This record gives sequence, structure tokens and C-alpha cells, in this order.
Amino acid sequence: MNFKRWALGAAVLLSAGTLANCSQILGEAAQGDGITTAMLVGADADSANWISHGRTYSEQRYSPLDGVNRENVGQLGLAWYADMDTGRGQEATPLVIDGRLYLTTAWSKVKAFDATTGEKLWEYDPKVPGETAVKACCDVVNRGLAAYGDKLFFGTLDGRLIALDRESGKPLWEKVTVDQSKSYTITGAPRVIDDKIIIGNGGAEFGVRGYVAAYSPDDGEELWKFYTVPEGGDPKDAPAYLQKAAETWNMDVLGASDAIGGGGTVWDSMAYDPELDLLYVGVGNGSPWNRAYRSPGKDGTGEGDNLYLSSIVAIRPKTGEYVWHYQTTPGETWDFTATQHIILADMEIDGKPRKVLMQAPKNGFFYVIDRETGKFISAKPYVSVNWASGIDPVTGRPIENPETRVDKTGKPALVTPGALGGHNWHPMAYSPNEKLVYIPAFEAGMMYAPEANWKPDTARGFNVGFNLGAGDLPPDGGFRKQVAGSLRGMLVAWDPVAQKARWTVEHPGPWNGGLLATGGGLVFQGTTGSEFNAYDAGTGEKLWSFAAQTGVVAPPVTYTVNGEQYVAVLAGWGGAYALSVDGDLINRKAPVRNISRLLVFKLGGTAKLPPEPALSELPLDPPPSTASPEVIAVGQAKYGRYCAVCHAPGAVGSTVLPDLRRAGSLESAAAWSAVVEGGALKDNGMASFAGSLSKAEIEAIRAYVIKRANEDKALETSEKIARK
Ligand code: CA
Repeated sequence: MNFKRWALGAAVLLSAGTLANCSQILGEAAQGDGITTAMLVGADADSANWISHGRTYSEQRYSPLDGVNRENVGQLGLAWYADMDTGRGQEATPLVIDGRLYLTTAWSKVKAFDATTGEKLWEYDPKVPGETAVKACCDVVNRGLAAYGDKLFFGTLDGRLIALDRESGKPLWEKVTVDQSKSYTITGAPRVIDDKIIIGNGGAEFGVRGYVAAYSPDDGEELWKFYTVPEGGDPKDAPAYLQKAAETWNMDVLGASDAIGGGGTVWDSMAYDPELDLLYVGVGNGSPWNRAYRSPGKDGTGEGDNLYLSSIVAIRPKTGEYVWHYQTTPGETWDFTATQHIILADMEIDGKPRKVLMQAPKNGFFYVIDRETGKFISAKPYVSVNWASGIDPVTGRPIENPETRVDKTGKPALVTPGALGGHNWHPMAYSPNEKLVYIPAFEAGMMYAPEANWKPDTARGFNVGFNLGAGDLPPDGGFRKQVAGSLRGMLVAWDPVAQKARWTVEHPGPWNGGLLATGGGLVFQGTTGSEFNAYDAGTGEKLWSFAAQTGVVAPPVTYTVNGEQYVAVLAGWGGAYALSVDGDLINRKAPVRNISRLLVFKLGGTAKLPPEPALSELPLDPPPSTASPEVIAVGQAKYGRYCAVCHAPGAVGSTVLPDLRRAGSLESAAAWSAVVEGGALKDNGMASFAGSLSKAEIEAIRAYVIKRANEDKALETSEKIARK
């Protein structure tokens, strides 16, 4: 990094009083080109670069750059683009350091570009085995890198932490951070704090026990590990914070099988306050989801808060020591993670300056928490919510609607938000000028149906403790359109002090891109409508739009090279919603597809994308449905548990992964079995299910998909007739 620019940044930093130790800053900066702790602490003053995942430790994703602004954003044009070599979801935040742009793609690959010309400098493929995809709840995505010294660090889907030489892209070391015999995955970006690489992992749908850990940047040695849930059994030798957690669980059931590992994975959000020296992590859902199975009480329904699920936990980054926690959803049962983006900011509330932490977790409430103490300040719903009527201002606990808590038996419940949340992993942004948090929010309720005799499967499949096959929509075009119409996606500009929306922009559907706010008074966001847009940060007026040809879910970044400002975003539809959406009905007008590509813009940019490729779709032409209703029912239940997470509930087919209704192998039991049992397509991500499904069950799934394909063919025919 250029010393003069850095010294200027350091001066701004010192005048702001963020760090008192001058010799520490200048001493480290003088060491050369590597990224130092002081640079990471002072990242806000370095507007040219984007050196850390959320740009700064506060994770505000606000850049002070104003070269592109409200007045001139209409002249923004494509400077260059680069096609990616994977056709899956792209969720990464690029890093930019001294004119070079680094990013990760699906399948945990890394690429480096000249940030002005788009020339590819190097690429690195960690060769994640294709069948690892079966361990991923939410596509084979990766959300980014960390830079420190002259190295880059990233996690792989199969749980490795890898260090690359930033100049050459050559691997320096790799460390397996998980038990690879279990369904752990890494999709999140590491952070570097105090000379340590911090990374968690995912897998709470598959029975794992969550943790976050710190590793040495020199060789990957593990420095500390912080489990978020107790181990099960007698907790007497556990650390004090886990003994406290043990009082909130059924410790006989917890850990009784691999599939009841408790969950609580730390798969995405982290933030750091250098003054308080606190690392904040967001903790995920329970494993299984259904608390009645995860932590049963005496009467067979669920019991206990199950700490530290769905919590924000403050940790001392030097030691991994617990400091405080705030639990957003006690005893969670709906997959209500608190792994969503955490933003730190200072603001005046009720006439007093407060150091706050803000989060819009899946459960639909926007929280403002005191980040010194973990004390609740306020929370209000940022989307429609029916599982709780509000948050008690004294206790900070939700006021639950008992009808939405589905146990082992009884009625199913339509719950809002659903398991995808009111907001998922897509980063928010905070503008200190507008004092607004921009939330990529959406509404997609979910039916939670009890399953009376659920049994964990320690090898494969969704271990959630609900009947996922029961949520199929009936083959009724009108009803399905009604459901599709109830889905909403929006950009919400949220006033965290008043706890209400100042303005809202509606999008064509859920699952829109992460956000960037700038000093030019702009908010940038990609959409499920295959656009990349700039909005007025104060009013939400759309000021500029680019036809991206693909759904954009990743968050943009901005940087300068030689004083010229660029805006970059990785485009490419995918992730949990993209794999579970009804591709036919919701996307019929404008199918959202995956064209994975980095898009980079500047004022006056004149590059053009190649013409959009024509849509090609296999015909819906299944063999006749001849299986008995009993066989089809077995197939439906097994499909719900083992197949729906990637191939969509009801076998409706996404536009990212193969639509099974149109699969050639539907015609032949042998061809179907070669894939599902034999693992013929494992290198593409379709693992063998031989250990989890019997031959008869595999054939029953084929019968179910044939039945669904025939229903939808009839629907298509009747709609064609109706249109004539
Ligand atoms: Ca989850």
C-alpha cells in the first residue's frame, strides 16, 4: 500500500481519536506493503481500497467516495466485465488493494484482476470435491476473503482454511478446520483480528455442533475455539458459559446422535470494536430445527431457551473468552438464525450517545443492542411477523404467538417470516450521513408441518424435525399464483433510532442483492429482476439501472485507482431461495438465471455485455404416472427430506439446478438409480444417497417426481388453452 496515502489515512484516524498509539500505526505502516492490524483498524480513512469484508471492522459497508454521486450517476457505464467459470450462486464481496481486485466464486475458487483493466492476474482452485455439495444447505457459495500481511485467506466448502500469496496466488498452507466426516461447510468470509484469522462454519440443517475459531496467519495453527452450544451429557468439565447454557437444554437428548449436535453455527456475520476489544458473532439455528425433538421437555413438547442459538455473542478475540450474549429467538424452532449481518455504529438515542450493534435477523425484528453490555435497547418488525407480537422492552424477550410453535403433532402453521427469514445473508449498509440502515428484506412465509415419528439420519439429508414434504402446493394454477403473489422483495431504508422505515422500494420478488452506501448519496443494489441499480440514499428514487442479464445477490464494493472511482459487483443468481423457488410460476415472465460474471462500472464506461443467450428448456414430457398412491406418498416424504433443498419443494425446479420433472432419467429406473444410488453425477455435486435411501425409496422418489411432472404438464396444457 502506498505509504503517503496511508500516512494521510493515519492522520485522519488519529485526529478522530480512534487509536491513541501513534508510533504503533506509523511503525507498522513503515514495514512495507502488507496489510497490518493498524490498517484494518483505520480502514475507514483509506477510501481508495476495500481491504476487509465489510470494508471496516464496523461492517457498515459505507464508502465515503463521492466521485460518483446523485448528480452524475446517470453517466455510469460498464468499464469491464469478467466471466466466471462456475454456474452457481455468487455471493462474494471482492477485496481491492492498490489497484488489484480479489474475489471468491462458487466452489470456493479465488481470482485476481487488475482493477482498472479487468486483466486476470491469477486464479486458484482448491478443488473442492463435487459431492461436498450434498452437505451444503444453501448452494455451493462463498462470500469472500480476508487480507493480512502479504497473504489472502479464505475458507472452502469442505471446511479448509487456505492461505494464498497475494502477489502470485500460490498456496502457502491449508488447514482442515472441521470434522470432514460430518456435514460442516464453510461459505463465509474470514476476518483478521489481532494477528488471528477468525472463521466459523455452517451445517445446522445436518446435525453439526457450531463453533467459531481463531488460527495463526503464519501456519494455520488453531489458537482458540469457541463452541456456541454445549456438547450434551454431563457439562461439569465445560467452560462456565457452556455450563450456563447446559441449564437451558435437555442434555440427555443433546448429542445423543450426530444429527442432534445442537446447531448454532457461525456461518456468516462478524464485527469487531477495537476500542472495546470485542468480537461480535451471529449464531445460527438449532439442529434439528424442531425444538420438540432437539430439546424435549417432560410432556414431549420442546423446552428451554437452548443457549446460544439465534444469539449475538461478544467474544474476547485474543483468547476466545465469552463476554456477553443477547438471544434474539429463545428456544428457536423455525430456523431463525441470528447469523445475519451485524453493523456497529454510534448514535444518539433518547438524548444520549450510545455505542450500538444493529441486526435484522431472520425472525423479522430489527434490533438495536448496546454493544458494550449486550443490553437490549429496542426492536421493531421490519417485515410482516406473526410468530411474535413484539419484543418486551424490559426483558428483551419476544412475546410469542403459541399457534406458530409446531411440535411433534397437531396442526401445521403458516409462519411469517419463514425459514428463509425476513432478511437472509445479504449484507445491509449504513449511511452515517442519512443515519439509515438499508435492509435487503423480503416476505416469504413458510408452512411448518409436524412429523410425529421423525428420526435423525446421521449420514445425509435435511435433519430439521418437520415434515418438509407436507408443504407441497396443490397442482392448482390459481392457488400457486396466489402463493407466488404473496412473495415480496424490497429495499427498506430503516431509521434505527425511530425504529421505522423511512422509505421502501419494491422489487419483483425476494432474494435481492446486498448493499453498498456511498458518500455520493447513493445506495447500490442488484435485484432478482436481473438489474443492478443506484438509488438516492435519502429518498429511494431510482437514479440509474443496468441490465445485468442475471439475478444479482452479492453486495457491491467501490474503490478508486488513480483518483477514478469504480463500482464492482459479482453477478450470478443462486443460493437458498434460488434453489427452492418455483421457477415456473414465479419467474415465468422473466426467468432469473445464472450468468456468473464480475461487473465493474465507472463514469463514462463504454464496455458492452455480449447479447443475452436464448433460454433453452427441455420439454416437460414425463412417462405416465402409474405408481400407487402409497408409493407416491413415500416418495413425497423422502423427496421433501433429501431432495427439496436443492431441487425445490414439490419438484418444481429452479433455474439453477436441474429440473427433475424434465430429467431424461425419469424414463428409466436403472438410469435414475445410477445417479441417486450409484452417484454417477457426484463430481457435479449430486452425491450418492445409497446410505440413506433404500432402493425402494429411490424408486418411490422417481414415482413421485413423475406424478408431479404429469400434474404440471396438465397445468401447462390447461393454461395454454385458457390463454387462447
Ligand atoms: Ca439454517
